[in-house]
Amino acid sequence: MTDGFGLDHLPYGVFSTEGSAPRVGVRHADTVVDVSTVRPQLDRPALDDFMALGPRAWTETRAEIAALVESDALPAFPLDEASLRLPFSVGDYVDFYASLHHASNVGRIFRPDQEPLLSNWRHLPVGYHGRGGTVVVSGTPVVRPCGQRAPTSSTAEGGAPVPAYGPSRRLDIEAELGFVVGVGSELGSRIGVDELDRHVFGVVGLNDWSARDIQAWEYVPLGPFLGKSFATSVSAWVTPLSALAAARTELPPQDPAPLPYLSPADERGALDIDVEVVLDDEVVSRPPYRTMYWSPAQMLAHLTVNGASTRTGDLFASGTISGSEPDTRGSFLELSWGGKEPFAGGRTFLEDGDEVTLRYSAPGTGGGRITLGEVTGRIEPARP
Ligand code: CA
Repeated sequence: MTDGFGLDHLPYGVFSTEGSAPRVGVRHADTVVDVSTVRPQLDRPALDDFMALGPRAWTETRAEIAALVESDALPAFPLDEASLRLPFSVGDYVDFYASLHHASNVGRIFRPDQEPLLSNWRHLPVGYHGRGGTVVVSGTPVVRPCGQRAPTSSTAEGGAPVPAYGPSRRLDIEAELGFVVGVGSELGSRIGVDELDRHVFGVVGLNDWSARDIQAWEYVPLGPFLGKSFATSVSAWVTPLSALAAARTELPPQDPAPLPYLSPADERGALDIDVEVVLDDEVVSRPPYRTMYWSPAQMLAHLTVNGASTRTGDLFASGTISGSEPDTRGSFLELSWGGKEPFAGGRTFLEDGDEVTLRYSAPGTGGGRITLGEVTGRIEPARP
């Protein structure tokens, strides 16, 4: 049994064992296989130098590693003896908003009297620049953030209402997928919508923790800020894009047709990845990634259409993955419909001590299913 970590997958991570330096390994079944002797760029404490080599080197190395793993020619360590770390140096982080169902649900919750989708949504993948420095590896505790909340009442003296300050009362998850740039692009150039495979090295599980009360007060008119930037968790394992070849599938219909720079020649731009949201050992939602409106190739093309450069280690995320059904929503905001409809035995938002794990699986090229790296995090109380 390989439990989704067979020879057709072999995701990359960075690990150390007691008394040894961090280096690159691949996950095979319940072991970490040390691949640091296969290429000089893999004998490093991060994937950066290897990711920068480009797709030909990625393909050749993967084939070589698979053959070495199959013949047990490399040292392997039980997973519980390996300490995993953030697998790459995170550059710029961009978060998109690519799910039609998520964007529509949020529109209905926050602006019930208006059209759920704003007029730009079907013409471009809406996104914002986030904070790369607070991207953390799966397992890192998440401290409940403090901040301002919208005023609710006048002051005792009858003056104008003032905002409240304190620990967030509406702490949430966002089940997303992250895409890691291996080969960057120059300032002034753009990445074409058919060039995803030349630039993106792989995929990580991603939880974009969100404080809804802080977000709701601060986001007008410039967008998300402190309600999002306190922590973003990614999986310790990076699944190479090529391992997802069997998961590629057609995008849902896009109406109206996007502008030419967002129109791919290959319509199989979607990824058939199943997601599970697990709260304290209970599966509370199953978001289907295949329902996402905008593809990762369209996101990357849009991100660079103005000539913005990209660098090795840049990370862009899909936005919350939500399907059409209530039990496929990828945030507590939607699962509890703005806190009004408790789910999973009376839950609305996250409580201190809660642990959330996002699990991902997809068809593998070997005929079975592969398991992408999971993302887990436990909520710690706010600091005084
Ligand atoms: Ca997000």
